[in-house]
Amino acid sequence: MTRQDLVTVTGASGFIALHTIRQLLAAGYAVRGTLRSMDKADGIARALAARGDVSHLSFARADLTADDGWDAALEGADYLIHMASPVPAEAPKDENDLITPARDGALRALRAACDAGVKRIVMTSSIAAISGGHDKSQQLDEGCWSDVTKDIGAYQKSKTLAEKAAWDYIAALPVESRPEFAVINPGFVLGPVIGGQASASLEIVRRLMAREVPGVPNIGFSLVDVRDVAAAHVTALIHDAAPGSRFICVAESMSFREIARHLADYLAPQGYKIPTRPVPDWLVHFLALFSPTFKLVATRLGPATAFDTRAARTRLDWQPRSMVQSLFDTADSLGAQNITRPGRTPS
Ligand code: NAP
Repeated sequence: MTRQDLVTVTGASGFIALHTIRQLLAAGYAVRGTLRSMDKADGIARALAARGDVSHLSFARADLTADDGWDAALEGADYLIHMASPVPAEAPKDENDLITPARDGALRALRAACDAGVKRIVMTSSIAAISGGHDKSQQLDEGCWSDVTKDIGAYQKSKTLAEKAAWDYIAALPVESRPEFAVINPGFVLGPVIGGQASASLEIVRRLMAREVPGVPNIGFSLVDVRDVAAAHVTALIHDAAPGSRFICVAESMSFREIARHLADYLAPQGYKIPTRPVPDWLVHFLALFSPTFKLVATRLGPATAFDTRAARTRLDWQPRSMVQSLFDTADSLGAQNITRPGRTPS
């Protein structure tokens, strides 16, 4: 790397993006983060300044749903990390509210990056683009794609269609003007938040801490820590083994009930009373008749899907941390920022 190579990171206000930007700045890159609202720029710069030098951090305005701003966001950039995409806490009424910005926004970012002549693009996809519609007894790898013809949920569709559109777009470019392209497919991301920016994926911990759930359904999660997801992106930007590949980034699987039990033990001395009572499958199916969120939960009942993570671990030398510690770090971070305040029960 030349010391001041410029990386454009889309969705700079995001949970994973803030950790990625932090690691990029620490590694000596200049970073231009895109925001759909520049109102967030000062807060982000302040939060990152508390953790390192931000003299090479700048921002540009770009919305996934509009053409303007993308050329300026990529002008002079050496690399693009395309991370922005809607990550909702609840299932939307219309799946196109997620699919359109995810897919068309990815194409806007990629087009501008190619016009600017970037060397390499790393896109943030998800295991949601891999596992949807597959039998849970199968171990899945980077060769698998979610089946969008099945009722897999809007978020899974949005990630699948956006990633497919990106691969197709890159493949259709003339070889001489084609940037290198790699994709990171993280599992369910937990970990500490920077600047209060919590993603919807932290809701499982927040809602347990806030006692906003009556109990815990029988679902499993393929977990990974945000700092390790960020590190995978930074590595994929320059590693010789990255171009042309997808990389599943999952550290370990844990059931919702194990998560609740770990948190209950860890947080009891601080006065939290974490719900650990199991919600039976029949009740989830019943609630699914009325609630789109429970409908989604009902499709995920049972253990977490198993993923083959050898590509990231061996080819990118990716070594994720233990998820029990990550869970505790998540809880500490949410607690310290009072993100869980409503349901906290002091001892
Ligand atoms: P997040 O905190 O909600 O970040 C999402 C980012 O996308 C935000 O910066 C958001 O901007 C931006 N965004 C959404 N709609 C946009 C639009 N129309 N125009 C411009 N920007 C828009 O979520 P995250 O967890 O960090 O997710 C980041 C990426 O990782 C996403 O691609 C997500 O699919 C992927 N991922 C996440 C997980 C997970 O468990 N969290 C797992 C696998 C993959 P605003 O701040 O303006 O809303």
